[in-house]
Amino acid sequence: MSTAAPGVEPFARQLRAWWLGGDTWRRRGLPWREEGVTTLELAATEALMAQTPADVVAFHWWAIFDGLRLLEPGAMVGPADVEDLARRVAPLGLGDRKARTMVSIAEVVTTGRWTEPGWGLGPYTLGMVRLATGQGVAAPVDTNVSRVARRAGWSDPEDFSRSLSGWATAHGWGPDHLPPGYAALSAVMDLGHVYCRAAVGSCLVCPCQSECPKW
Ligand code: SF4
Repeated sequence: MSTAAPGVEPFARQLRAWWLGGDTWRRRGLPWREEGVTTLELAATEALMAQTPADVVAFHWWAIFDGLRLLEPGAMVGPADVEDLARRVAPLGLGDRKARTMVSIAEVVTTGRWTEPGWGLGPYTLGMVRLATGQGVAAPVDTNVSRVARRAGWSDPEDFSRSLSGWATAHGWGPDHLPPGYAALSAVMDLGHVYCRAAVGSCLVCPCQSECPKW
């Protein structure tokens, strides 16, 4: 049984407080984080973001998902649905292949049969889909998560990610409509977007500074 990465718990508590708190620069207002978004939509959004920046997906999100029949629970998906989705994701430079991936995700989430699906998605996206659907433990690591973890002082970003998502699942994160592990990794993304940025870390004003192992 793996143990939590040292120092993750106090860091997680501070990260959660910032993400849910009053800092203007906290949680990014992305449409798939709003109340009422379904598990299917959340998982399918992660598939979209595998090749497209979050801001671009956010711009097109409502046009893609509004009235999307194939993501309705129990929908019988036919070729016309896949064509409809392919048209919707075309403005993102995506097409049939991405539409079929989203359909596969919908089928797995709907049936609850989680196997190694071979969707052509990388480990990070698969990890985020697992967290979005509550399908077991996952440790998604992309360049953003890796940068925050290493800069903060954790030499093993995967261990950091697993510990953080595991802690969130055990202790809750918030808001209530988002799966805890998914929300925790989303908070790391936002911290990396605003404070622990690629060019330079704004450590002196970072809301997690007092519990960051770097200090
Ligand atoms: S204090 Fe610095 S290194 Fe630590 S999380 Fe914040 S920006 Fe990153």
